[in-house]
Amino acid sequence: MLRLQDSVSNLKGIGIQRLKLLGQLGIFTIEDLISYFPRNYEDWSQTTSIKDVSIGEIHTIQGKISTIPQNIKKGKLVMTKMKIQDSTGTLWIVWYGQPYLKNYFHKGETYLFTGKVNYYYGSLQLLSPEYEKINNTQKDSDIGILPIYSLPKKLSQKLFRNWIKEALEKIESTIQEFIPLWIRKQYELADLEYSIYHIHFPKDRQHFLTARRRLVFEEFFLLQLGLLQIKQTVDKKLEGISFKPVEEVKTFIKQLPFCLTDGQKKVMEEIQQDMYSTYAMNRLVQGDVGSGKTIVAAIALLITAKNGYQGSMMAPTEVLALQHYETLKTLLDPFGVTCTLLVGSLTKKQKENIWENIKNQKIDIVIGTHALIQESVSFKKLGLVITDEQHRFGVRQRISLSQKGESPDVLVMTATPIPRTLALILYGDLDISIIDELPPGRQQIKTYAVPSSYRNRIYLFMKKEIEKGRQVYMICPMVEESETLELESVIKYTEKLKKEIFPHYNIAYLHGKMKPKEKNEIMEEFSQGRIQVLVSTTVVEVGINVPNATLMVIENAERFGLSQLHQLRGRVGRGKHQSYCILISDAKNKIALERMKVMTDTTDGFKISEMDLKLRGPGDFFGTKQHGLPDLKIANLYEDMVILKQAQEAILALFEKDPFLQQTEHCFLKKKINELFKNSTEVLAL
Ligand code: ADP
Ligand code: MG
Repeated sequence: MLRLQDSVSNLKGIGIQRLKLLGQLGIFTIEDLISYFPRNYEDWSQTTSIKDVSIGEIHTIQGKISTIPQNIKKGKLVMTKMKIQDSTGTLWIVWYGQPYLKNYFHKGETYLFTGKVNYYYGSLQLLSPEYEKINNTQKDSDIGILPIYSLPKKLSQKLFRNWIKEALEKIESTIQEFIPLWIRKQYELADLEYSIYHIHFPKDRQHFLTARRRLVFEEFFLLQLGLLQIKQTVDKKLEGISFKPVEEVKTFIKQLPFCLTDGQKKVMEEIQQDMYSTYAMNRLVQGDVGSGKTIVAAIALLITAKNGYQGSMMAPTEVLALQHYETLKTLLDPFGVTCTLLVGSLTKKQKENIWENIKNQKIDIVIGTHALIQESVSFKKLGLVITDEQHRFGVRQRISLSQKGESPDVLVMTATPIPRTLALILYGDLDISIIDELPPGRQQIKTYAVPSSYRNRIYLFMKKEIEKGRQVYMICPMVEESETLELESVIKYTEKLKKEIFPHYNIAYLHGKMKPKEKNEIMEEFSQGRIQVLVSTTVVEVGINVPNATLMVIENAERFGLSQLHQLRGRVGRGKHQSYCILISDAKNKIALERMKVMTDTTDGFKISEMDLKLRGPGDFFGTKQHGLPDLKIANLYEDMVILKQAQEAILALFEKDPFLQQTEHCFLKKKINELFKNSTEVLAL
């Protein structure tokens, strides 16, 4: 008998090697193993008689081995061969390079074989089929649908399946249910044990669907519930500052060289309402790249300063912080609002000086990076905290910054627009504002997807743009996911461009490993127009605003997700000139082609993020690295939207009934949440 927390090494045939392989999949305990769900299934329930097979098709055939398996040398490879028969005919089964199979099969045994049928030297054969043994006692209905798991090459499906089977058979007691009965009843959810069993070994499609629905619901339910719990403990909503409307806002808007868009106006309205109210603002502003979020931030900061409070704005990179600083300084200086930049690369002396000025409120607005949340930074009267491009920050960081004041207003800005339902999971208790349009007169960025054979034509096109006085970003090719290689390739690529293609232009490179100061200098030169071509890794992805840059060339475009491509493309098309994005890719796989098509078809960030969800598998969207959230193992954010809404509904009902999960019927749920989220608060991004 096994307990869920026992090691998988208790199962048959798991030694050190296999333990290591399983460890790489995150499987250590029996519980981990049975929670490792299939990525797909093979339907073995439909068998074909040998007389009915068609050549070139995949069939499942039930047959009895009628010859002793033989190994035959074919050049360097060994071919293993045997004949099977059913009541309608015979067929050869052939494998290459797996000589051990000779001793695995025995004459007289019955198996199911699935594979492609071909016709070879006058006889039918199945080449390298999958196989599953049939016991004489087994009924047909026991075979059904077989799970397929994502496994490293060294682990076979068969082996893995058997471990799961063994584990499920030997688990000592029932698997503890944790979704309260009243919720399961209301949403007609199967219980946990049933679902686990049938997600691995469904008897038929209906069993599978029932099991899957429960597990998807569970995943959404736990994720959101966990998030809400964390929020409850970290930021209990408090009375906040009640700012007074100030005259300067009108003047500020009037003297802008453009009119605010309706989208900006609407969001400004919502922000002002929050700021003037007695509650602390907790608002997320979503807007596509280039929708003009910075102005919105500037106005909120102006209100803050003119009310006698300090404000801060945190950006994920120094380059971006510097850019915001310059923009905000220009905008706010005329109103007697003092701004300063606080970043890690300043000298100790400079920092100390700034800390001092923040403390005695000689400075109204501080713009910076993580340096802002250091302990030595303390504000005299912090009234507003803004974080830009928030997906780079963890909840802890946001909280630490807002704890530097007495419940200051909080504004979070994101440039990765996502559908509202999703925003609701990720941002739970934040109120959401959306800037739903771009400033008028923006020209659509013309986007082309081309193979690498077009490279010379692309160089010519770059030259044309540069001769017109424009500038170019090039996201450089990369061989592998390795920082050192990435670095090398940026430098090499730049050298090549300089030497062979554009000897007369100023070309510079930018990569993540450079010192912030170097990066700032390069960005400064680029935005001054002294650099014509900026070769870069994705460090230019967020926020950067250089309106004179009109061409974005992305090498190996297939290695980026849609949202990332959209962000990269968003670096151009920020000024009055027609802009272009060229995606270079030789990839032929369906997803890559689909992505290129989406990019050339639309520039709408919301649509793109929706497609992104659809094209990525479950889980990838949240990418643990980026968000620190538990993975979604089975739910698909796009396709399971209905279940997502049900889970949200259920949580609301639960909160009404028992917000702190104190009732006995919720004790297992509480335990589960605590286990699941015990490591998440540090990195959780909101
Ligand atoms: P993002 O939303 O991506 O952060 P920014 O705030 O950087 O966008 O704005 C992009 C550009 O659009 C800036 O050059 C900004 O001055 C300009 N801009 C912002 N609002 C408007 C508007 N209403 N009309 C015209 N241009 C605008
Ligand atoms: Mg921005």
